[in-house]
Amino acid sequence: MRIVIVGAGQAAASMAARLRAKGHDGPLTVIGTEPVAPYQRPPLSKAYLLGEMGLDRLILRGEDWWPENGIDLRLDETATAVDPAKRILTTDKGSHPYDALALTLGATPRRLPAALGGHLPGTFTIRSLADVTAIAPLIRPGARMIVIGGGYIGLEGAAVARKLGLDVTLVESAPRILGRVAAAPTADMIRALHQAHGTTILENTALTRITGTDRTTGVELADGRHLPAEVIVQGIGITPDTDLAAAAGLVIDNGIATDAHCRTSDPHIWAAGDCASFPQNGDRIRLESVGNAIDMAEAAADNILGANTPYAAKPWFWSDQFDAKLQIAGLNSGYDQTITRPGETDQSGSVWYFRAGQLIAVDALNDARAYMVGKRLIEAGRTAPPETIATAPDLKALLK
Ligand code: NAP
Repeated sequence: MRIVIVGAGQAAASMAARLRAKGHDGPLTVIGTEPVAPYQRPPLSKAYLLGEMGLDRLILRGEDWWPENGIDLRLDETATAVDPAKRILTTDKGSHPYDALALTLGATPRRLPAALGGHLPGTFTIRSLADVTAIAPLIRPGARMIVIGGGYIGLEGAAVARKLGLDVTLVESAPRILGRVAAAPTADMIRALHQAHGTTILENTALTRITGTDRTTGVELADGRHLPAEVIVQGIGITPDTDLAAAAGLVIDNGIATDAHCRTSDPHIWAAGDCASFPQNGDRIRLESVGNAIDMAEAAADNILGANTPYAAKPWFWSDQFDAKLQIAGLNSGYDQTITRPGETDQSGSVWYFRAGQLIAVDALNDARAYMVGKRLIEAGRTAPPETIATAPDLKALLK
């Protein structure tokens, strides 16, 4: 069986390793547009941007690993079309016949439109190694940075910049930061953390455009104010990369739609990671996280080899900002109640999400015990009354 994986990120690396580990000894090709071997993305907006981590640790597998495992890693090569009837993937460098094709294409960061300055020199996204290589020289003490968007990318980028001595203002158009991913008490803890480190956070603040002609000079807010800056980070979300799949006639539904076995609407094509949506508990979801990229890619690999095992996501996320660690287990969508539980220090605490009395997610700030207990309860489908979780002297007792 000839297996071709297109998109050379975390999901591709995990899938290739799993295919070999599970005994696939036929041809295996991994094709990616970027000129670098698959690397970890989470450190890009954390330790790598901060300069505390080198490229050697960012890269997922050393350059020898690929040939040693008989994997044809083709970098700097871009897929242009899939012919599902003939089972051929075409790229800008040639064509690749396949028996099974896996799409691990990832996602592209959104930018403001060019007419609003979204592509001016001095404006950046933080998604790829090339992005970080471009912005790093501008992260210098005293420089002024404006971060557009109060999601994880914006907040992590803001924390690194502040730590390195920049003057940082974060602008969020929604009523509060982390609106898409977390409840108000979690956003309150994170806002307080950033403000304590001297970052200005402007919520409920729309901007009309990024200013400048040859390069950015700042942003203009909807109330007419102009905020000057030399560096602008756009952390306004991502769009799953579905064009190749759509042009091949595959079903797209909030990403490349897969069934419970990670198979797309074509029986010979599979998908995993940020680009793929899948059924879970009666909904169709798409998870933007490295944990899902790994787990879904491994599930897809197993199913390509005939395991016929449904993929059940066990969502978890984390974010490092300043010296704080936010850990999240579960998915909070549809929650109707939250409770907060103080941690052992002023800078720690946890927020627990319930739907119809059932625990569905937990956000834990500097509180590894709350995260561990919450994750284990959620993964086992167990719960405890909200008031018990809020007041239990020993959280671990809830696991008994
Ligand atoms: P995100 O979570 O979608 O957050 C984007 C934020 O920008 C939202 O709060 C959004 O508000 C806001 N926004 C959108 N348009 C705006 C505008 N014109 N002006 C001001 N604010 C605007 O995405 P992200 O932070 O860019 O991250 C990209 C991806 O990387 C996500 O999948 C994220 O989960 C992932 N990531 C994860 C981690 C982690 O797990 N630690 C770290 C970094 C990145 P609305 O919701 O109101 O549009």
